[in-house]
Amino acid sequence: MNTREMFAKAVDGGYAIPAFNFNNMEQLQAIIKACAETKSPVILQVSSGARKYANQTLLRYMAEGAVEYAKELGWEHPQICLHLDHGDTFELCKSCVDFGFSSVMIDGSSLPYEENIALTKKVVEYAHQYDVTVEAELGVLAGVEDDVVAEESHYTKPEEVIDFATRSGCDSLAISIGTSHGAYKFKPEQCTRDPQTGRLVPPPLAFDVLAEIEKKLPGFPIVLHGSSSVPQEYVDIINANGGNMPDAVGVPEDQLRKAAKSAVCKINIDSDSRLAFTAAVRKVLAEKPGEFDPRKYCGPARDEMVKLYKHKIIEVLGSDGKAE
Ligand SMILES: [Zn+2]
Repeated sequence: MNTREMFAKAVDGGYAIPAFNFNNMEQLQAIIKACAETKSPVILQVSSGARKYANQTLLRYMAEGAVEYAKELGWEHPQICLHLDHGDTFELCKSCVDFGFSSVMIDGSSLPYEENIALTKKVVEYAHQYDVTVEAELGVLAGVEDDVVAEESHYTKPEEVIDFATRSGCDSLAISIGTSHGAYKFKPEQCTRDPQTGRLVPPPLAFDVLAEIEKKLPGFPIVLHGSSSVPQEYVDIINANGGNMPDAVGVPEDQLRKAAKSAVCKINIDSDSRLAFTAAVRKVLAEKPGEFDPRKYCGPARDEMVKLYKHKIIEVLGSDGKAE
């Protein structure tokens, strides 16, 4: 399904839909299992990195298989959207629409304002013919996500959002209020340090900017990218088992919870499941150096991701029970 109804309900209900990226079978199984067990609607995201790694055709049929898998797990009416994450050209968005995606993102945020509108509008006009919803982006997020790299962030300007949404016709808008892609979202110099744990404490999100945007576009679906929290227990397991991830830090979950209650109705989480996967794999391989069956370490990694996704759905986004 597309995101229209999902978002309308989420805005009204004060919760957010999880948007989880997937790149392999174990990750997809974990997402679907977590959503089936909590009855949460979900957006399955395919990034350019995922398309390169796993192949677009395979991912599309995996998503189709996921709907059947969800039903097998006892989820009678699964609400699953297949979404292109960070589409950068009209041609790519068109190919995903033609290919059966139910939602696409066109990310023209690096372009000058008028060019961003023109490109978004072109994608919207094409996608809407097939009832495919379109996410656009205004403002720039810092950080690294697959092929999306930006040194510095620029907050979305609230005075632009009405004009942008109206003229582009987009269905939802990704904004920049201080979230950031990747597992190193904030440089140490942007943070303070907790004297007890020595861990970085990131700067707060710009809730004043979010509130202004919400005032300009009441009820319009807002999207947050780069919203992993980088759970420190996973960073610790990774570092204790041969890893090296100093100062990895994310967006605190209480801030995401607060955002989910507002006009934010889609929250993108990718890095956290990478961390869960890697922590579980490192632990098994460190404890059982003779293990060589991938199922023996990918299985526990999958279990750990299920735990993580359920935690996000229930404790952070509040989307559990919204897709009975
Ligand atoms: Zn993103």
